[in-house]
Amino acid sequence: MTNELNIVELKSKLPGIEQSIFSYMTALANEYQAINLAQGFPDFNCDEQLIDYVSGYMKKGFNQYAPMPGILSLREKIAEKVKKIYGSEYNPDTEITITAGATQAIYNIITTCVNIKDEVIILEPAYDCYIPAVQLNKGIPKYMELTYPNYNIDWETFKKMISSKTKLIIINNPHNPSGSTLKADDLVQLEKIVAGKDIFILSDEVYEHINFNDRHLSLASYPELKKRTFIVSSFGKTYHTTGWKVGYVLAPSHLTQEFRKIHSYSMFSVNTPIQYAYNDFIGDESKYLELSNFYKQKRDLFRQGLENSKFKLLPCSGGYFQLADYSEISQLGDREFAEYLTKEVGVACIPVSVFYHHKKDDKVVRFCFAKNDETLQKATEKLCRI
Ligand code: PMP
Ligand code: GLN
Repeated sequence: MTNELNIVELKSKLPGIEQSIFSYMTALANEYQAINLAQGFPDFNCDEQLIDYVSGYMKKGFNQYAPMPGILSLREKIAEKVKKIYGSEYNPDTEITITAGATQAIYNIITTCVNIKDEVIILEPAYDCYIPAVQLNKGIPKYMELTYPNYNIDWETFKKMISSKTKLIIINNPHNPSGSTLKADDLVQLEKIVAGKDIFILSDEVYEHINFNDRHLSLASYPELKKRTFIVSSFGKTYHTTGWKVGYVLAPSHLTQEFRKIHSYSMFSVNTPIQYAYNDFIGDESKYLELSNFYKQKRDLFRQGLENSKFKLLPCSGGYFQLADYSEISQLGDREFAEYLTKEVGVACIPVSVFYHHKKDDKVVRFCFAKNDETLQKATEKLCRI
C-alpha cells in the first residue's frame, strides 16, 4: 500500500535495531578528525607479500568463481594448521567452509540452527551481529551477563539458563568487547552442561591468535564440544586485512552439510584471488605465532600511556580492545561520553552499553589498540590531558 507521501510501506523485520555503532562512531571520528580507536581495524597495512599474491593471482586470471566451499588447497592447509595447533582433525572436503568473513559465517550458522521460538543463549556484552541474526530467524535470545569487571562466565547462573528449548549457545573467545579469555576450567564446565543435550554451539574465535596470558583454547580441542560446535575464524584479524572479509567455519560434516545449503544460496562462493593468496601465505606459521606478542606490545604501550590518566583500565587478556572505566572523569552516560571524547578530545571510542540489549551502562568505553605506535601515543597524550 502506498501512503499519502507515495512511499511503498515496508514492515521492518528489525524494528528495534539501530545503525551499527561502528559506522556511527567512525563517521563521527571522520567528521571531527578524531583519532579512530572506535571501530576495530588496524591503521597499518597488511604484509606486502600478501598484496603481491592477490594482484599476482588477479593478473594470472584467477578472477572467476571459486568452488562453493572454498578452494580445496586452502581448506587442506586450514585442516593441517588446526590439527597442528589444536590437535583436532577436520576433513577439508566435508568439514571446512570458506566464508565472506566471520559476519556472514555467523549469520548463516544461526540460520542453520535456529527455528521459530528456539532459545539462544547470548552472553553480554555481546558482539553486535549475533542478536539481529537470531531475531531474523525468529529465535528467542536468552541474555546472561558476564561478571563485572572481569567479564567471566558464572557457570551456576549459566546452568540455570538452559531449558528444553535451548538450541544454540554463542561463545566468543577471546571476547569482544571485554578482552577476557576462557580458561580450561570454563570449557570443562561447558562440556558438563551440554553433555547429552541437543544443543549446538557457535564459537566465535576470530581473535584466536591474540592471546596474552595463555595459549588460545579452541573448542576444537574438546570432543564433547567439538561434535556440536561451529567454529568461526577470520583472516581479517589474523592478517590485518579486515576489509577483505574472508574467514572460515569448522564444523562436523552433518552440520557443515546443512550450513553449506544456506551458504550456497546466500553467498555461493568467496572471492577467488584472495583465497589463493591466503593459500600461499598461511604456511608461514610465524605470521600468526608472533601476533600475540605484536599486539601485547601495543596493549602495553596503550596501557602505559594511560597510567597517569583518570581512566581506570580493566583487565585485557586477548583480542585488540582495551576497556576503560571513566567514572572518575565524568558522570555522562557512556554514549554521550564517547561522543564528547570524539568531538572535544579528539579520540573516538565505543560505548560498551551498546553491547547489552538493555544498554547496561557501567561507565566503560572500548578503545581499539590495533594501531600504529604513533597513533596510540598521540591518542594517550590527548586522553591524559582530560
Ligand atoms: N566476531 C567478532 C567478535 C568480531 O570482533 C568481528 C569483527 N571485528 C567479527 C566477528 C566479524 O569479523 P569479519 O570482519 O571477518 O566479518
Ligand atoms: N568487529 C569490529 C569491531 O568490533 C567492527 C566490525 C564492523 O565495523 N562491523 O570494532
